Amino acid sequence: MSTTADSRARIKWVTQNHSLVAYEDAKISVMAPGLTFAALVFEGFRAYWNPEQEELLIFRLEDHLKRLEFSVVLLELDDPPATEQFTRDILATLKANDFREDTYIRLQVYVDDWGSMTATGPVGSTVICRPRPRVATYQNGQSFITSSWNRNIENASPPRIKASGNYLNSRLAGLEAKRQGAGGAVLLNQDGTIAEGPGGCLFLLRDGVFLTPDVNSGILESITRQTILDIGQDLDIEMEERPVGRTEMYLAEEAFYCGTGQEIGPVTEFDGRAVGTGEPGPVTRALQAKFDEIVRGNSPGHEHWLTRVYNG
Ligand code: PMP
Repeated sequence: MSTTADSRARIKWVTQNHSLVAYEDAKISVMAPGLTFAALVFEGFRAYWNPEQEELLIFRLEDHLKRLEFSVVLLELDDPPATEQFTRDILATLKANDFREDTYIRLQVYVDDWGSMTATGPVGSTVICRPRPRVATYQNGQSFITSSWNRNIENASPPRIKASGNYLNSRLAGLEAKRQGAGGAVLLNQDGTIAEGPGGCLFLLRDGVFLTPDVNSGILESITRQTILDIGQDLDIEMEERPVGRTEMYLAEEAFYCGTGQEIGPVTEFDGRAVGTGEPGPVTRALQAKFDEIVRGNSPGHEHWLTRVYNG
C-alpha cells in the first residue's frame, strides 16, 4: 500500500492554468487571495482502476464539475473556465502521470497574484492527481465522537459549497477526534441535529431504514451520498433524508461515513457506545459491494457515471 510520501514522490506532472508543468514548478503567489483569504474552491474525486479492462474510470466527473461551478459562482470568481476545459486538463494530467491504479484528483480554482479580500481575479487553477488506495478503515470501520464544535451555518460560511475556508471548521473537529483517539467526528448544526463529519456525510440504520441528514442540515451536497441514495433504490433498501437527532446515533443498528475519500466507511462506535454489534453490518456491506461494482465499471446501467481515461 502506498504511503503519503510514496504518493507525493509519484506526482510528476500537474496542470496549472491549463498547461502541464512539473509538480515542483507549480507555484502560486504568497500574496494570492486564494491563500491569504481562502478565496479558493475545489473538488476532490476518484478515478478507479479496472484491471480487466486496463482502464482508469473517473467517477461522476460531470457532477463534480457542476458542483465546482456552483462554488465558483457563489464566490464570484472571474470568468470561470469552461467545464470542457477542466475535463481536458484532468485527462491530460492523468495521462501524463500514466497512473494505472486508484487515483485521487484535486481540482482547485482560486484568486492568484495579489489582491484584497474581495478580489475576484486573476483566477488560477490546478489539477493534482495522486495514487490513492482505498482507506484502511473501509474494512473494519472506525469510532466517531460528537465534536464540541458546531458545523458552519448556511448564513455564515455555507457548507453547501466546497470552499477551502470551510475546512477550518472541519479541522477543529478532526483535531478534537484525533486528541480523543477516535477515527472521526460528528459535527452537529445549530439545531443540535447531525450535520456531517469533517470530510463526509453520515448514514444511520434505524428500524431497518437508513437515515441521512437532509441537504438543509448543514452538509456539503455530497456526490457519494447521492449515489448511495440511488443504490438504496436499486437494492430496495429504504432510505430517508431528514433532520437526524444526536440521540439517533446511539440507537443505530448500523452506521457509515461516506465521501470520495472514505467511500463507504463503517462507523463502529459513537461516543464510546457500540453501533449494533460493534462490527460493520450486513446492509452496509451490501452497499459497499454495489458501490464497488459501480465505480469499477462492473455494473451495467451505471456506465454514464464513468469517464474513461485511456480508451475514451
Ligand atoms: N462533506 C464534506 C465536508 C466533505 O469534505 C466531503 C468530501 N468531499 C463530503 C461531505 C463528501 O462529498 P463527496 O461525496 O462529494 O466527496
